[in-house]
Parts: sequence; C-alpha cells; structure tokens
Amino acid sequence: MQPPLTPINESDRLEALYATGLLDTPSELRFDRLTQLVQLCLGSDIVLVSLIDTARQWFKSKQGVAVCETHRDISFCGHAVLADDIFEVTDASLDPRFTDNPLVTDAPFIRFYAGAPLTVQGERIGTLCIIDAKPRQLNAKERQILRKFADAVEQEIIDRQQEYAEVALNASRDQFESLVANIPGITYRCDADEHWTMRYMSSSIDPLSGYPASDFIANSVRSYSSVIHPDDTARVETVVADAVLHRHGWILQYRVIHKDGRVIWVEERGKAGYDSNNNVRYLDGFILDISEEKKLKHQLITLTSQLPGAVYQYQQWPDGRVAFPYASAAIRSIYGLTPAQVKDDASVVFSKICSEDLPALAHSIERSRQQLTVWQCEYRLRRDDGAIAWILGKANPERMLDGSTLWHGYIQDITETKQHYLQLEQVNQQLHLAQQRLDTASENALIGFWQESLTHDEVWWSPIIYHILGFEQANTVPSVALLRSVVHPDDRQLVAESDNAALETGTQDVVHRIIRSDGSIRWVHELARVLTNADNEEQFLIGSVQDVTERMQLQQLKNEFISTVSHELRTPLTSIKGALSLLNSGTLGQLPETISRLINVAYSNSDRLSQLINDLLDIEKLAAGKMNFELQTVSLFAELEHTVMNLQPYAHQFTVQLRLEPIASAIQITVDTSRLQQILTNLVSNAIKFSAKDAVVTLNATPTTDSVRIDITDTGVGIAPEFHTRVFERFAQADSSNNRQTGGTGLGLAICKELVEKMGGQIGFDSVFGEGSTFYIILPLNKQNNTSNVLSRVNNENIK
Ligand code: ADP
Repeated sequence: MQPPLTPINESDRLEALYATGLLDTPSELRFDRLTQLVQLCLGSDIVLVSLIDTARQWFKSKQGVAVCETHRDISFCGHAVLADDIFEVTDASLDPRFTDNPLVTDAPFIRFYAGAPLTVQGERIGTLCIIDAKPRQLNAKERQILRKFADAVEQEIIDRQQEYAEVALNASRDQFESLVANIPGITYRCDADEHWTMRYMSSSIDPLSGYPASDFIANSVRSYSSVIHPDDTARVETVVADAVLHRHGWILQYRVIHKDGRVIWVEERGKAGYDSNNNVRYLDGFILDISEEKKLKHQLITLTSQLPGAVYQYQQWPDGRVAFPYASAAIRSIYGLTPAQVKDDASVVFSKICSEDLPALAHSIERSRQQLTVWQCEYRLRRDDGAIAWILGKANPERMLDGSTLWHGYIQDITETKQHYLQLEQVNQQLHLAQQRLDTASENALIGFWQESLTHDEVWWSPIIYHILGFEQANTVPSVALLRSVVHPDDRQLVAESDNAALETGTQDVVHRIIRSDGSIRWVHELARVLTNADNEEQFLIGSVQDVTERMQLQQLKNEFISTVSHELRTPLTSIKGALSLLNSGTLGQLPETISRLINVAYSNSDRLSQLINDLLDIEKLAAGKMNFELQTVSLFAELEHTVMNLQPYAHQFTVQLRLEPIASAIQITVDTSRLQQILTNLVSNAIKFSAKDAVVTLNATPTTDSVRIDITDTGVGIAPEFHTRVFERFAQADSSNNRQTGGTGLGLAICKELVEKMGGQIGFDSVFGEGSTFYIILPLNKQNNTSNVLSRVNNENIK
C-alpha cells in the first residue's frame, strides 16, 4: 500500500481548509442535496464531500456510508488532492497503491474511486468523490458531471463562508452599536457633501434631539444641521469647513434645539477621513451633551465673580511649562491679564512680579510641589501704571498622571490691608518709641502709671510703680489692696476718703505717705481719673503715682524756715512797732517835724512787715493743716455789718463809700467768725484799695436752697484778663509797683481761698478790666447735713 504524499504547500492548504470553518460541523442540506444528486446522476454506491485534514479525511457530506472519517494514510482522497484533475482508480484490487488497503480488502471493499478536487482560495482542501464496490471507468460525460458538481460544492463552501462572515459582521455591528450606545455621546459619520448626508449616527441622538437616529440616516427625515440652533449653524459650518480645508480636527461648542424646544449645549469633536488620493471621503464626529458643564461653569463664573480675588488652577509640568488652565475673570484685576492670556502659558505673570519677591515665591511653589503641601505666599507686583500691589495667594497642590502638578487656589489683592498693616506697624513703632520716652520720663520723674478695670477687677502697674512702692516686680501681683497696704497708718483715712470721693467725682488727687517693706517712709502724689471705654462701656480708673518725697522734704524745709523766721521776727517786730507807736503818740514828748515823719514811715513799714508775717504764718498753718476752726452758727447780716463797721475808717482814708444791701436777718451760717472776718476784710479792703475816689463798694448776700453767696462789688480798676488765672496764687499781684502805694503782700486772696474751701465753700470773681470787680464767696447754709459735712471735713483736717 502507498500512503498519499504530503503536498508541498500543505500549511497554506490547511489554512485555507480551516478558514472554511467546515470541519466537525453538522451535516448541511446544501451539501447533502448535492451528494444525493451526484448519487442519482452517476449511480454510485458512495458519494462523499471529503476534507483532508492533517491526519484524517473528514466527510462534510456522505451518502452510502456511516463513518464520518478515516485515516488520511489509507484515504484515496489524499491522493486526489495532489493534482487538479479528477483522480480515478478503476479497479483498486489491481492497483498496486491500493490492493492491500483495508478499505479495499475489507468493507466497503472499494474497487472504483473517482475524486474531483475541491479548490478554495487556490488550495485543494478535499474532494467530491464517488466510490463503488465494482470496478468501473467514467466516460467523458460522467467526468464532466462530477466536475460540475464539484464546482457546485466549491461554490457552496464559498457562499457558506460568506454568509458566516456576514453573521459575524452583523454580530460585531450589534456589539459596536451597544458599545456606542454606552458611550455618553453621539458618534456619527457623514458624507462631506454640502448637506452632510448622514451615513451613520448612534442612537444617543434620540435623547439629545428628541428624534430617532433613523431620521438622520441618509438625511431621510431631517438633516443634523436642522437641529442645530440657527444662530450657531453658520459658525459650525465655517469651523468644520476650515478644519477640513486645513486638514486638522475641530472642537466646537454650539447649541442643539430639542424637539421639545429645549436648548442643549453640545461639544463636537470631529475630523475628516481622506482616501488614498487625499480627497475627503467622510466626516467623523463625536457630540457630547455639555449642558450640565455649561450650567456648572455658569454657576462657577457667577460665584467667582462675587469674590474679591481670583479663583484659579495653576499647572506646572516637569519640563518647566506653566499655565493657568482655569482662572476666574478677577485675574484681570490682579495681573492685568485675561484668563485666555494665561490659559496655556503662565510665564507672562512672573514678569509682573517684583523681582525682589521672585526668589521667595519660586521657593514656596517648589516646596509645595515637592511636599504636596498647601502653598501660601505674599508677594508684590508692579501694575502697568507702576503702582505696587500686594498679593496673597493660597493653593492646594495635586499630582497629575502626567507628572505635572496642579494647584487649586485663590489669589487676592491685599494692598489696602497690607498698607493698613504697615501703617499700623509704623504707628506701633512710634507708639513704642513714645512709650519708651514716657518710660524714661516717668523713671526720671519717678512717676508710675496704673490702670484698674472697675468692670473686671484687673489691675496693671507700670514697672516704676513697683520701684516707688518697693516691690519686686517678679513676685508681685498688682492689686488695689496691695497699693493701699503700704499707705502710712496716719494717712489711711485721708486716702480712704479720697478713694470714696474719686468714685463720686471721677477724679482723685491725694498726697500721702507710704511705708515701704524696707521701713523707709516716702511721700507719693496720687492722681487718678475714671474713664469709660466707648466700645464696651468698661470703666477704668487710670492713675499715676509720683514719688514726691524730695519735694515734700523741701516744702517742709521751706515751711519750717518760714515758720522759724516768722516767729523769730514777730516778737522783736511787735516791740519795734510798740516803740514806734509810743514815739508817734507824743506821750514821750513832741518830736521835731522831720523825725516825726521818719518815725511815721518806720511805723507804717513795720505794720506792713507784721501783716506779711501774719499772712506767712497763716499760710504755713493752712499748709500744715494746723489752722484751727472754731465753728459757730451766727447771723450773716451781723457778720457783714461788723466788717463794714471795722473798715469804715479805712474806706474813709480812700474817700470810698461802703454800702451794705438789705439782707434777711434770719440767714444763719456756721463758720469760724474770726476767719470769716479775715476773708471779708481782705476782700472789702481790696475793693476799697482798687477803687477810685468817691466810689462805692457794695456788700450783698443772696441765699439759695443750700448755700449763700456773698458779693463784694467795686467799680475800680478791674483785673486784666491775663491775670485772671493767677489771682488766687500766692504772692500774685497784678501790678507790684501799684502795691507799694496800696500796700498788700499778694498772699491775701491765697489765704482767703484756703479758708473758704476749708469751711466747705467756694471763692471766685467776675471782673471787667477798667470797670470794676465782684469777688464772691459761696458758703453752705446752716442746714443739718451741711453743718455735719463741714464739721467732719474740718475735723479731719484737724486730725492731720
Ligand atoms: P494784696 O495784699 O496784694 O492785695 P491779694 O492776694 O489780696 O494781695 O490780691 C492780689 C492781687 O489781686 C492784688 O495785688 C491786685 O492786683 C488784685 N486784686 C485783688 N482784689 C482786687 C480788686 N478788687 N480790684 C482790682 N484788683 C484786685
């Protein structure tokens, strides 16, 4: 037996066979019908459509045999596929190639075989063959018939393959359809003609336009341009035509009008397809509904336009390229550049930034990029008009897939705030300087400041206070109690009263002694005022404490000196005055005229000297609080009458009249009568002294509910305005030359003031220069409470 040879193009042959997709498929009528016809026409026992696989022959269609395959080695068909012609064996039992073939020696006992090769895609993949158990030879006609049937089988194989391809194509088209249906957008392909005749359009056009895709295919019902907003069609056409002409793609946004009238924003990306001759064949496009993005963008723009600064995205790529993919319109007011100008290239922004701020800015961006930490920076930029603006930026970085970094941030012009801040800093510096000056001054003058919040019970002391009071600053908590704990026991009552008075009047002014922890006694002058914070109505007591020990010591020294001198002078002066008075009286005999005149001068001078000494002693007593007051309740009228009577001779001397106006005799006052006389005498004698000849000096008294005002009015020289403030000062005289003539020490009014005030009253004057003056005193009336007030005050003074 001779097995069939393997054809030289076996692999191509097998490939062509497999491509038919016939192997191992069920029998099919289209082939069986042919094999049956062959059986009928050529009267054969067996007819097969046999396909030669690697190691077997497999029967796609078989008549007169049950098996569906045999081994290739024993096959007749294996020989038949080696040539184009029909392979015919007339009697296999005699043919040396087949005599011992089991298909010959056993069933089906083949004697005759004729196989016409089936050629598909130029390869002989198998045969249509007829087999008989008796020897036979085909005539030309029969061979022709067999060949024709083989041709028919070949055609069926090809047709079948075609059909399968179409099925597969349909299947893949379905797959494509469902794929594009899932894409959130519409794909289309249309002709590049003037109507854009639609060739394909995905079904998603339905929800977008309200019309089915079939409406658009071949523009059968409507064209796609018919659903584009009329205001946008021209633009769309121009952009697409331009893109096609210049052979690039297009991206454009326009509106589509839905069947129900809604306007929908879409974005279309498309490109043209060209044939080998570079002619446009079709347009491919992808349309996306961007209404939601448009809406969001609109919202974003509306929202960001409300912000004083710019919202932006800043992107930096590894190659150093920088851009602002998004920036709200306000970027213009900051950098003077539109969002579009910086969209693809941000480098122009850096040229606006002040060069001295660039390194720090670059550093902050780089650090944020490396560590992905929030970027924040303040920097200056120079506006086009040359003005410098301060910018504050803050942004969150995010690493992108392409290795770039995208910051989402906000920048803001803070020039105004910054300027305020800088001014504030300057003011702070000035304040600091002023504070330093104040500190130095207060250190030198030994004046400390303190503040107490009456609302919050908080106390603050300036450092010098610790020093004045003898406390260690480090371990002292300032408090009012601590401030009061050092008050000298003898001055406690005085200070307590001053504290109470401060609460009523809002001011405090007290000089007292303190005992420091080292036992030393110091004098301090406390001044304080109540202030109210306008913002929160919080009440503060703000005060100063000055160490006045030295001043007090000097004062004391002076007082002691004056007192000593006065006392030492008084006794000899009294005897001098007495002696001169005696000489003057003529008791010791008449003195010659010249001597008598000199004695007179000496007498009047010694009188002035003794008045001065008396005044000085009064002042000293008042200052030392040693002036005693013996209070009595008396008739005011009687007191005034007394004064007038006493001064009548003095008035006479100046040819001045004294007039006492009628006063209710019932008015009672509680005073030290001799002090009151001292006051009235001083005021009336001044009035006389500064009056012109023949003038009238009037005394009047006007009671009010709780006080009485006594006026002493003259029509004399009056007091010059510039002297008004000094009238009650010690040794103050408007014209000292005049006083040589009028007499006086300049101490009278100072003493009057002290005395009136010590008796709980007030003193003052009204004067028109050249026209006269009215000096007045106001004394509390004799009412129970007033009396007790005056008493308690006077008694307190006496305690000192
Ligand atoms: P003196 O003892 O010098 O009068 P005073 O203290 O009583 O001292 O008065 C001080 C000064 O006030 C006087 O020297 C005078 O210049 C002015 N003065 C006082 N009373 C009158 C008055 N009635 N008219 C004008 N000047 C007056």
